[in-house]
Amino acid sequence: MAATILVIEDEPGIQEVLKFSLGQHGHDVLVADDAESALGQLRGALPDLILLDWMLPGMSGIELARRIRGDARLKEVPIIMLTARTLENDKILGLETGADDYITKPFSPRELMARIKAVLRRRAPQMTEDPVEIRGLRLDPRSHRVFAEDKPVELGPTEFRLLHFLMTHPERVYSRSQLLDQVWGDHVFVEERTVDVHIRRLRAALEADGHDSLIQTVRGAGYRLSATPD
Ligand code: CA
Repeated sequence: MAATILVIEDEPGIQEVLKFSLGQHGHDVLVADDAESALGQLRGALPDLILLDWMLPGMSGIELARRIRGDARLKEVPIIMLTARTLENDKILGLETGADDYITKPFSPRELMARIKAVLRRRAPQMTEDPVEIRGLRLDPRSHRVFAEDKPVELGPTEFRLLHFLMTHPERVYSRSQLLDQVWGDHVFVEERTVDVHIRRLRAALEADGHDSLIQTVRGAGYRLSATPD
């Protein structure tokens, strides 16, 4: 489960340790020294997960977590708070602010990796390799294959990622810009009509078995995958 992880941490020593151990586990690591530069990076592409230090120069980690949770575009990104504090009250404050989990320094890389995996599994199921099945359509991330009633469906890489995201988030409407963030990883440099092109290709590939009706257009809002007919 390789993810893009934004590390927001001002201590160079800890930055290095995190970069090294996350990289060893196959993750792509982005680093920001403070909240302001993190917000700048988040305006471009969204990471799959944020590791956020509590004590930062300028805006604190807690304040940044609040800003992220209050922002329509950023609020879904999972956050794990890093802190040297061990007080139970601080832990509660961290979680109330919207962090998904909390890890106290010093931590073992192994513990951190386990926490990251657990948070991604819960908050970003499209990052995991768990197979998903909806109304006879089955997608297996491990073998990178899709079957409709046991017949293989040929999909391009983008259509595969798009279908995987939609199947792991059924019954919810996503706007084109949300899909660009989630599937392409970028809402700035790709045109929104690109989404329509790939939705069209995906529907065409699913048409033979009637599974194209799973992908619904929601006028004025975006797209939704639903097992219930429109
Ligand atoms: Ca710090």
